[in-house]
Amino acid sequence: MVNKLKNINSYFKPILKSLSAQALKMNVRIYLVGGVVRDLMLGEKIFDLDIVVEASAIDFAHKFADTHKKEFKKHHTFGTATVFFDNHHIDFVTARSETYPSFGVLPKVKPATLKEDLLRRDFTLNAMAISLNKSDYGKLIDYYNGESDLKNGFIRILHDKSFLDDPTRILRAIRFEQRFSFKLEKHTLVLAKEAIAKNALGLVNPHRLREELILLLKEKTPGKYVKRLNELKMLQLMGINVKFAKNDFRIFVEIERAIEFYKNNFKSHRLLEEWLVYLMAILYRIKRSDTAKFLDVFGFRKGEKIRVLSLYDNMDKLKELNNRVLPHVIYKTLNPLSFESIIFFYAYYRQKNIRKNIEKFLDKLINIRLRLKGEDLRKLGFKPPTLYGKIFEKLLYAKIDKGFKTLEQETSEACIIFENYQSKH
Ligand code: ATP
Repeated sequence: MVNKLKNINSYFKPILKSLSAQALKMNVRIYLVGGVVRDLMLGEKIFDLDIVVEASAIDFAHKFADTHKKEFKKHHTFGTATVFFDNHHIDFVTARSETYPSFGVLPKVKPATLKEDLLRRDFTLNAMAISLNKSDYGKLIDYYNGESDLKNGFIRILHDKSFLDDPTRILRAIRFEQRFSFKLEKHTLVLAKEAIAKNALGLVNPHRLREELILLLKEKTPGKYVKRLNELKMLQLMGINVKFAKNDFRIFVEIERAIEFYKNNFKSHRLLEEWLVYLMAILYRIKRSDTAKFLDVFGFRKGEKIRVLSLYDNMDKLKELNNRVLPHVIYKTLNPLSFESIIFFYAYYRQKNIRKNIEKFLDKLINIRLRLKGEDLRKLGFKPPTLYGKIFEKLLYAKIDKGFKTLEQETSEACIIFENYQSKH
């Protein structure tokens, strides 16, 4: 028997041994399952573990967490539990079978054997297990020929109704197909297309589709994933009536570069929600009202919606940055925008001047602050205080353009601005 755990990294080795020892003690059978088995066989890095327990997963996980003095979280509704190890987590699930009362809805579950548990999974390559039990520790359990599909590079569903039961699997299929440069197996592709034609996606809770879409956009090089979604008309079925010509996918590569540039050069700015920039590259191509509707129906957060919609209001303003403009104009244009929108525009507009101006903003202008405070204006006798907002705005723009260094420079500029107001009103 080949021990598939022989080469697992030294961090996980003792953890798996300890799981195995506890299973022996409790007289239950446990298995490593799902994506982690797939990744082990592909020689990919492992981050988290998924364990199937042929008994109560919550009891098993609880005891394991106690032994290792680790944080433990249970989810009663699903009969699952998680134990947190440093930066990794171990998910425990009771072996279960699932039946779908109707297409697209969440399944009814009941305890079952490992074999049945594996049958409820999405694809053969995700339906393998490795035993953690003493009698056959490290043995691959492969009821559905996952290993051979993995070798041949096929994404294959486990039964013909799979995509109808859970149409989010179509998005998952594309995700794994593109991630590993595999192919949807012929019959699986036919069934995916059939499910798409029957508008199976329309039966799923849009929030679940949103989560899968986000996962897909979080992959490396999302452009090729979007291209595939487009080929299969999936975006259109989610209400994004977009038309891509061949060259239109270039924006995704530009975004990858822009994100790298941002990460390497502006380390003090907050991290980007990179997936959102890629989503922008899909959505800006359709009407504002359709984008707003899509974001609502799929339950994107308010902040995400604001950032995406800001593209429509700023597309033209950004073009002005291709001219020679004063620094405060750059500031005024870009400061209200999120970093995601700015990086989108950086990728979208390839004109040198626009890019230079964006860089200038991110590098210098964004950090400029006034020294003068409201209290200082009050001491200078400026009235009424409702004017202060306007004065500060003008003062900041003046500081940005003229490069004031001292409080005195700011104070004398504030006086000029205030006098101007007085003489006008
Ligand atoms: P990733 O590498 O992206 O994390 P993963 O395969 O580990 O991929 P998860 O979403 O963490 O994906 O799911 C863990 C396992 O649960 C999968 O490998 C698969 O066996 C099963 N699974 C997840 N989602 C579904 C689904 N929609 N239908 C059936 N099985 C699923």
